[in-house]
Amino acid sequence: MHLPSEIRGGFERVFGDAETIVLHSAPRALGHVAGGIDAVVDAALAALGPSRTLVWPAFTGQLTDPSQWMNPPAPRELWDAIRDELPDFDPARTAPRKMGRLAELLLHRPGARRSLHPTESVGAIGPRADELGRPHPLEDPMGPRSPWARLRALDARVVLLGVGFERCSILHHAERLAEPAYLAACAYSTFVRVDGERRWFEVESGAGCSDGFGVVEPKLRAAAAVEDVTIGDAHACVVSASRLVSTALSLLTRDPAALLCSSTDCAACNFARSTLLGHRARGLA
Ligand SMILES: [Zn+2]
Repeated sequence: MHLPSEIRGGFERVFGDAETIVLHSAPRALGHVAGGIDAVVDAALAALGPSRTLVWPAFTGQLTDPSQWMNPPAPRELWDAIRDELPDFDPARTAPRKMGRLAELLLHRPGARRSLHPTESVGAIGPRADELGRPHPLEDPMGPRSPWARLRALDARVVLLGVGFERCSILHHAERLAEPAYLAACAYSTFVRVDGERRWFEVESGAGCSDGFGVVEPKLRAAAAVEDVTIGDAHACVVSASRLVSTALSLLTRDPAALLCSSTDCAACNFARSTLLGHRARGLA
């Protein structure tokens, strides 16, 4: 059993003296906290204080074209019906998918903002929330004009609480900057509503799988760039945003497949790898 004051102390340690913090979390890893998940949110915000900004991914992969769903796939005979019935993205209401409960509950706290991207929005709270969230280019949500580029420029402190590097979203920004040959082939479709009509468009932001991102961890540890902190029962890793991006970029420069996972069952990474092989065969990579 952990008291909220103990969890607050843990957040104070992982946030350190940073002005801008990116939080990826699986709050279940904290164990039993008196007061439950709301006490955890309170503890995080109390540790943050009024003068610093917290950012977190609030992605909504459920709002993509069903023909591209892999986990699980959508039955082909339902694709048209699903396209018709998918709800519009609403920054005030749409729940993030697989981002952890903290990511969802923080969105509803006073002062919280959410960037206006239908699938790759970020939540933010604090004095820089608006500046970090806008603009968020629709076709290029991980690119040089995205929140992630601004977080890198500010050298935000990235906290992985109870999750591994495979959940570290800023590595998609590195993937986008390196422009491996699979980037365009792995684009996915999503939609916004314009003048009452649904408009579908393509998004290029990576291979669609981040299970291979753990490859950066040994490089970062060899450079003593990872801080390990315990909060409750959870382990947290803390790394600088610019260090994460530069490490991933150097790996991608040597091998465009560096961030793809090694699972033979991963349709996304297998497809990305086949694209790279095609480019090599044609002498393009
Ligand atoms: Zn994969």
